[in-house]
Amino acid sequence: DVTATKGNEFEDYFLKRELLMGIYEKGFESPSPIQEESIPIALTGSDILARAKNGTGKTAAFCIPSLEKIDPDINVIQVVMLVPTRELALQTSQVCKELGKHLKIQVMVSTGGTSLKDDIMRLYQPVHLLVGTPGRILDLTKKGICVLKDCSVLVMDEPCWFGRVFGFGPVVSGTAWPFCKADKLLSPEFQPSIEQLISFLPPTRQILMFSATFPVTVKYFKDKYLRRPYVINLMDELTLKGITQFYAFVEERQKVHCLNTLFSKLQINQSIIFCNSVNRVELLAKKITELGYSCFYIHAKMLQDHRNRVFHDFRNGACRNLVCTDLFTRGIDIQAVNVVINFDFPKNAETYLHRVGRSGRFGHLGLAVNLITYEDRFNLYRIEQELGTEIKQIPPQIDQAIY
Ligand code: ADP
Ligand code: MG
Repeated sequence: DVTATKGNEFEDYFLKRELLMGIYEKGFESPSPIQEESIPIALTGSDILARAKNGTGKTAAFCIPSLEKIDPDINVIQVVMLVPTRELALQTSQVCKELGKHLKIQVMVSTGGTSLKDDIMRLYQPVHLLVGTPGRILDLTKKGICVLKDCSVLVMDEPCWFGRVFGFGPVVSGTAWPFCKADKLLSPEFQPSIEQLISFLPPTRQILMFSATFPVTVKYFKDKYLRRPYVINLMDELTLKGITQFYAFVEERQKVHCLNTLFSKLQINQSIIFCNSVNRVELLAKKITELGYSCFYIHAKMLQDHRNRVFHDFRNGACRNLVCTDLFTRGIDIQAVNVVINFDFPKNAETYLHRVGRSGRFGHLGLAVNLITYEDRFNLYRIEQELGTEIKQIPPQIDQAIY
């Protein structure tokens, strides 16, 4: 269920006290699911590509980490938020101002259709956070008036709308724009401006993309500019397409031995190994280390901050294997993971899908191996039926081309 939260609180993110005050004064009590997924990850500095339905709180999901990262004592542009329309720019800047009410952060809005001279005058004053449309911001940057060399965060909100000038009304959550043709967006005339803009950013820049829709052009953009992005998909469209699923019948006491065999036979780029309890995660991680393989582990009893760090390091390739419970993987896609192992078979189809499934649009190949005990056999059959998928017996040799 993509609307369910994990029960995190805004306090969990170690935000500046003044920011926390702004959040509560705006009436936000606890983070929405997209905020729970994005805020801790954005704070670690990872690029993010996040997809969630309209009205689920994407704006605060990128405004909160952006505001946290800005140092108000340094008078340079530190965050740029690109939005497709003036209305959205005004709306987003308003959210930033409200959330950042107690921070001394200067927010500027800059969009086409207004006086360029006014923008130039405004840029002589301190600006920490710039919200606007790509064309105008590029224009000011090329003139050398808008300086982006210290801008460490670039946000793109609804990038598939770039290039569409609607010219009417504010954006209403849930409204389908009449001529919002998904495949035409992040449109050709805007793509070069955005690419040029990115060239003005420092090489260390972090890019956060938030959208309800992800057409092909977003994939192009992601592949070209986002660095090992954290893909968050809360659209509940996980599929098993491109993933070859196997099972191996084992006795409980043979599981570790079986895993050892898998490690020696498979070409693992990175793997995630699921257990059904915290204790088993810790035990297995110990066993894997004893076998001589590198491994991290994450479970619900660890502090959020620690979990984030481990997961971040795993994502950066610091370790090949991650042992975990179902905690951290919801709707998250780690591109480098080509093997998922259910050391313990999940109890229901939804959990199985979240462990093994990927968001179809960024589909890539993968291998899922399920260790099945005698007790699991009915679950295996049931989950296969429920998901309309096929989990085959593992062959002695596995073709490397399928994952
Ligand atoms: P999206 O960009 O995903 O369509 P918005 O960012 O515009 O959604 O947020 C939709 C509404 O939800 C806004 O009115 C916003 O103030 C509200 N909202 C966002 N986050 C929270 C939260 N954590 N608690 C309560 N309301 C929230
Ligand atoms: Mg939005």
